[in-house]
Amino acid sequence: MSSKVLSQFLQENLQELKEKGLYNVIDPLESANGPVIKIDGRELINLSSNNYLGLATDPRLKEAAINAIETYGVGAGAVRTINGTLQLHVELEETLAAFKKTEAAIAYQSGFNCNMAAISAVMDKNDAILSDELNHASIIDGCRLSKAKIIRFNHSDMDDLRQKAKEAKESGLYNKIMVITDGVFSMDGDIAKLPEIVEIAEEYDLITYVDDAHGSGVLGGGAGTVKHFGLSDKVDFQIGTLSKAIGVVGGYVAGKRELIDWLKVRSRPFLFSTALTPGDVAAAKKAIEILMDSTELQQKLWDNANYLKQGLKELGFNIGDSETPITPCIIGGEVETQAFSKRLNEEGVYAKAIVFPTVPRGTGRVRNMPTAAHTKEMLDRVLEIYAKVGKEMGII
Ligand code: PMP
Repeated sequence: MSSKVLSQFLQENLQELKEKGLYNVIDPLESANGPVIKIDGRELINLSSNNYLGLATDPRLKEAAINAIETYGVGAGAVRTINGTLQLHVELEETLAAFKKTEAAIAYQSGFNCNMAAISAVMDKNDAILSDELNHASIIDGCRLSKAKIIRFNHSDMDDLRQKAKEAKESGLYNKIMVITDGVFSMDGDIAKLPEIVEIAEEYDLITYVDDAHGSGVLGGGAGTVKHFGLSDKVDFQIGTLSKAIGVVGGYVAGKRELIDWLKVRSRPFLFSTALTPGDVAAAKKAIEILMDSTELQQKLWDNANYLKQGLKELGFNIGDSETPITPCIIGGEVETQAFSKRLNEEGVYAKAIVFPTVPRGTGRVRNMPTAAHTKEMLDRVLEIYAKVGKEMGII
């Protein structure tokens, strides 16, 4: 017999979410996740993926994955320390270290999993973590898991960070203090102030941790936000995901060899969860080789992003202060933002509404993610549709 308490809990809470318009309806794609997708038999220009460079459908990655599957099969067979480490995993990690210009790297099954793994392998209840208030959910959960004292600082507010670092250091309460930030913030597209963060870290002896999920493949000639600021030897943990610009799945930490050695013996998802599949590893490795070989895809991404941003601005939309290809179109209220996104969809553009509680009330936005795979014709069509819907709804 199923639990009545559970059933009541689920029904009440699902109902509440639906009434508040916060129940997320998930649309299954009937196509690959490319610049144009098919949903319910309709083709839509896709501005909602993190497939920044279009690599998720790149023939070179597909070929690498197929070859690896032919050789190694579809599954790694075990956790890494038992016998799940294939030569391919080692090669991927060596390639990642070369890509990030660090001594070593360790791969995990996802970016989320990587933050859960890495933070709690190093920090404990006698430590403190200074965390930007807009850090990603996986960072927040990783911090909680560590049981360290979590001290949030105002978003990218360096005075607040400095003050809190000083207080934490002078309190003498903590063995270790870490500062954690996203490299690029995914809702607004702004870049963390890493030079100041590193300076404060040096002043107060902080461990530095940068999650560059949205910066890798996009900034610093592809190597990410840390490289963009020339700080490769000044950041202890460089976190990345293999699921966004790299186009596959997985996450990683790049850093000093001793750090990676420690994570290999102490981080729980590495020790207790089956390794990435051979196909994923081979495709990810291929993607990184492509990025190290040429900046052509990044150039295309930035050209497309600049074109879309300029077009939306000229139409009169508020696109915030993004410094990266992430292009929010700020509409305001939750209901209005949802309605705007729905109308875009009806006209042929798939761009999701992002509203409270993901972003503050009144700053609901449709978030556009242009990629290297979009053509100018697609972006022109997007701008035509934005103009039509924006005028119709009195937004521009
Ligand atoms: N960190 C940040 C900053 C992210 O934006 C994301 C993805 N939303 C993740 C980690 C999780 O990465 P993954 O999708 O590879 O689990």
